[in-house]
Amino acid sequence: MTPPDMDFVKLPKTDLHVHLEGTLEPEMLFRLARRNRVPLPWRDPENLHEACKFRDLAGFLAIYYKGCEVLVTGEDFYDLTRAYLERAAADGVVHTEIFFNPQVFRGRGTPLAAIMEGVLSAIRDMRDRISCLYMGTVMRTRPVEEALQALEELAPWYSEIAAFGMGGAERGNPPLHFRRYFDACRERGFRTCVHAGEEGPADYVREALSLPVDRIDHGNAAAEDPALLRILAERRIPLTMCPISNLRLKVVPDLAAHPLKRMLEQRLCVTVNSDDPAYFLGYASDNWAAVCRALRLTRAEILQLALNGVEASFLSDERKAALRQEVIAALPAPPDRDPARRGI
Ligand SMILES: [Zn+2]
Repeated sequence: MTPPDMDFVKLPKTDLHVHLEGTLEPEMLFRLARRNRVPLPWRDPENLHEACKFRDLAGFLAIYYKGCEVLVTGEDFYDLTRAYLERAAADGVVHTEIFFNPQVFRGRGTPLAAIMEGVLSAIRDMRDRISCLYMGTVMRTRPVEEALQALEELAPWYSEIAAFGMGGAERGNPPLHFRRYFDACRERGFRTCVHAGEEGPADYVREALSLPVDRIDHGNAAAEDPALLRILAERRIPLTMCPISNLRLKVVPDLAAHPLKRMLEQRLCVTVNSDDPAYFLGYASDNWAAVCRALRLTRAEILQLALNGVEASFLSDERKAALRQEVIAALPAPPDRDPARRGI
């Protein structure tokens, strides 16, 4: 079982599935609303906190997009990115890969360049404290032409973009509808990932595997399909799982029922991530602590999970090798009965 004294903040972690817009803490949301004179349907941060008791993904997305309305100027995007990176660094995240969709913020007159420069300059300014890769993403609820256009519009920043993904309400919006988008991402040399099998069925995960994608975001539903699990294990297709998000959106009834442990035992490259930490009330170490304890993961399993995060990242092989050493130094391989070498 999970060592009761394990400090997950000290574990060198990756966070490979986090939406920048989902790191907007209520206090900052209200501050930016005042700064930009944006009316809000909530009285104060506590009232917003109360509203964050979601029934499902759709209920969450309604509040999430309302929150996005307070982000207007380049400075807002800088402040948001910097605040997340500072918090993640303090939380023991050594490498993060953040989704961000500037499409959501167009139409309010803010130039795309101001938005992108705000985000990217915060990533650059924080480079010495935390490594971060930017991932573009598009909404599956919009036409594929819009996704292709968004991909084109980001051309001036391609050198600072590692990957492209796709998210949004899943049911009725299968991954295959976006084949042209994923092909176009690949043609431009990007790594790719797609949200699938969160509220959607195992078939959506299967479909995703027929696309040029490197990684599945969530992928919970694959647990119901043994043949699919074997394919995911054989191909080492990583799943970026988000336990607290799954709990808050009722994808799982409780964390003890989360498929992560079973998948780990079947040698899938499963990883732990935070998704939308401000709305789901859980940053990286909160997710690690909650899921490891609920599933009574052993020290060996926790080490494997941390190494999976490094393997699943879009970093260079050289950087991965260095991070792997960092993880192993912090969490030596069990069995290890020598208290002097116990690490964290
Ligand atoms: Zn997500």
